[in-house]
Amino acid sequence: MGVHPMSSSGVIGQAGRVTGPDDGPVRSAELRLAGRRLALVSPARLYVCGITPYDVTHLGHAATFVWADVAASVIRMSGVEVRTCRNVTDVDDVLTRAAGQHGRHYDEFALSQEYLFEQDMRLLGVRRPAHEPRARHHISHVVQLGMALLAAGEAYERDGHVFFRGGDVPERAGFGRDTALALSTQYGDQPDDPLRDDPFDVPVWRPSGDSDPAWPSPWGWGRPGWHAECAAMALCAFGASVDLLAGGADLAFPHHAHQAAMAEGATSVRPFARSRLNVGAVLKDGTKMAKSTGNLTLVSELLRDHPPTALRLLLLDRRWSEPWEFRLEDLAAAAGRLERLYAAAGRADRAEAAAPTAAVSEALLDNLDVPTALDIAESEGGSAARHLLGVLSLG
Ligand code: ZN
Repeated sequence: MGVHPMSSSGVIGQAGRVTGPDDGPVRSAELRLAGRRLALVSPARLYVCGITPYDVTHLGHAATFVWADVAASVIRMSGVEVRTCRNVTDVDDVLTRAAGQHGRHYDEFALSQEYLFEQDMRLLGVRRPAHEPRARHHISHVVQLGMALLAAGEAYERDGHVFFRGGDVPERAGFGRDTALALSTQYGDQPDDPLRDDPFDVPVWRPSGDSDPAWPSPWGWGRPGWHAECAAMALCAFGASVDLLAGGADLAFPHHAHQAAMAEGATSVRPFARSRLNVGAVLKDGTKMAKSTGNLTLVSELLRDHPPTALRLLLLDRRWSEPWEFRLEDLAAAAGRLERLYAAAGRADRAEAAAPTAAVSEALLDNLDVPTALDIAESEGGSAARHLLGVLSLG
């Protein structure tokens, strides 16, 4: 943990009140995200929904994790310490099936995929999180979550399942019921399962078949549900709430909505997430990049022929919340912009260097407005450009 220069003992009397060059005033640390102010006190807690390690990293993953990394960096820039938790969803039916197709055990298969993912993240300059929990190490916490939800009347047990009562989750998350129903079906929540009282009830725990991983529980041998895994891992890393919950735009519902509702149901602390960073999808030929559609551009393939800093800049030179189309020619344009930025950083400062540097910081704190910060850095050059290259880890 870093020690702030102002953490030393205070001085008594006017004579001792001398400030050194590092002893500047503590600034107010306030990030504005999607029109809402988020005042922060160290440590800021950032939970990033991580990968299900059954496939290698595509640009959609990369965009999410690079933006979460920059959000952390901007918060750090404002003087607030950041603790990041990025989970690995290594207990998941899609992973179990993929491992089976490769003739491998799910956890061993997951580890090999995690290794490839971490290589991609390292090349893209994404800082390693303080916490990297794996779902299979947190089964007991999911069981505790299930017991807490049952005790609070927020869940019910049925045929070896524990279902969280999620009937009001779409409305609380701002989704119409029909849209929510379509999304729940799309993301494997099985809203038409007749065992449930309500289509939006989701499993905290479910019994395992012969080919599924299984653990003992008060409700029989089984495995956790996806949303419950992330709720339990976040509670374990940070306690009852987080400052920023990050993930792809497609995680807003049902995943983040149910994760938050479960944590709130178990702890009575609301809101679970003070703010959200749901990063816009990356499209290819007009369709969201996804394993299921097969239209993937892999990070490792792009990095064979292009510098990782150019790819990082391409991901960041836009509004974080908006979907966008990937085109290879834009990667070359990003490399050109990066060269101009490096040239600008080499220029000498004009007489007043503090104002443009502050303007870069201000743009970043204002909804992570990287395009505006880049424009300022490129035109002003000098310290402002060096400051931005540092915060965006493009150096
Ligand atoms: Zn998650």
